[in-house]
Amino acid sequence: MSESIQQESLSHKFTKQNRVAVLIIALLATVAFFSLYIGLKSSESTAYIINLSGKQRMLSQRIASLAQQYYLITYDSKNLSNIQHDEFISTLQTAMHQMRSNNNALSSGNLDNSRHVELSQPIREYYFGDTNLKRRVDTYLLLNEKLLQSTSKSEALELLPQILSLSNTLLPDLMDAVLQYQKEGEENIGIIRNIAMTAWILILFALLLEMIFIFQPITHNIQKLFEEVSWNQKNLKQQVKIRTLSLEQANLKLLHMASHDPLTGLKNRLNLEKDLERLLIHHQEHHAPFAVAILDIDWFKKINDDYGHDAGDFVLREIAKILTDNVREEDSVYRSGGEEFVILFNRITQEEALNRTDKIRLKIQEHLFSHNEYTIHLTISGGLYHPDHKQATNVQEVLKCSDVALYDAKRLGRNKIMEVEKTKE
Ligand code: GH3
Ligand code: MG
Ligand code: MG
Repeated sequence: MSESIQQESLSHKFTKQNRVAVLIIALLATVAFFSLYIGLKSSESTAYIINLSGKQRMLSQRIASLAQQYYLITYDSKNLSNIQHDEFISTLQTAMHQMRSNNNALSSGNLDNSRHVELSQPIREYYFGDTNLKRRVDTYLLLNEKLLQSTSKSEALELLPQILSLSNTLLPDLMDAVLQYQKEGEENIGIIRNIAMTAWILILFALLLEMIFIFQPITHNIQKLFEEVSWNQKNLKQQVKIRTLSLEQANLKLLHMASHDPLTGLKNRLNLEKDLERLLIHHQEHHAPFAVAILDIDWFKKINDDYGHDAGDFVLREIAKILTDNVREEDSVYRSGGEEFVILFNRITQEEALNRTDKIRLKIQEHLFSHNEYTIHLTISGGLYHPDHKQATNVQEVLKCSDVALYDAKRLGRNKIMEVEKTKE
């Protein structure tokens, strides 16, 4: 798989895993929120019911007390004005109305237009079971209605003890209902607490699992990816370095090939001209003496013809070796073409140059070139240039002078070195 495709699939995987991680937490948080929301709503309703139920107790006592007073102001000595009397009746009726509507709400669970609660079994039992609170409260209110509608003192006197007695029995039962509501409310809060705790533990647990199975592997993979990228970069750099090095080596090789002779390993004519140019300039600027010897094998063609081309090559290599072995460190040897060699003598007098060149000529003359079953003898001729005798201005002129001297050496019988000064131009 290519690196970019691998990175793309990894990033796709990370995105997917991140989404899953966020989704799990979001889901848990949402479940926790709605559970708490519903719990709180029901707890709110419970508080409302407790309040309503408490009010019923208060209203039952108040109505009993108002019923007593009603009897007194209507049938007993207490005289009130008509207005006061009507106001009193209205107060009692309001209390009764409140108690009735509270009784309906508490027994049905329809607290108001927007709120409805499911009544628990024990509460249902209070209102409709043995305790029968619903009917008893209705009866209590009915008795009070009757009291208000009574037309004689005897009728009222008959109703009042019933009202008071019912009020007395209603009180503890209404109290029990309040306590039951309270108990249920506390249970509700306990449930909410448990939900909150469970949600908290679940979220922590989910986070822990995500850390182990999602985030840690993601971190690990990212780390691995970084390591791979940096390894690849390093590798790339290494490869570039190696290629650059091999290119440099190839360049050097090419340069060497362009400036050297493959048969003898000596520098070729290109180098000769460059080096000679340097020597000339050096001489012109600092009067550093130098010499150029052009050496050509005598009758070389015949060696090729008599012993074969391989033998000719062998001779060329041997001569290159003899020349190299017999020049100083500061001198250089070149194969300028075919069977022609050049020696550049650096900082040398004309006498010494001639002396050295002639010694080389002698060495070659005495050398036995043994190739296969043949032993070959040969000689060389040479032309020697030194600026003491002729001031040449450029490379071509130097080479031309030397060539003329060589030609003279050939012409005068070969196996000799001729100096430029001795040539007839
Ligand atoms: P002279 O004494 O006048 O220099 O005679 P010569 O035979 O040496 O000169 P000529 O120019 O007639 O012949 C040179 C020969 O050198 C011709 C050519 O085939 C041979 N030659 C040139 N380069 C090579 C080479 O690399 N290897 C071999 N074996 N022969 C070469
Ligand atoms: Mg030649
Ligand atoms: Mg020759």
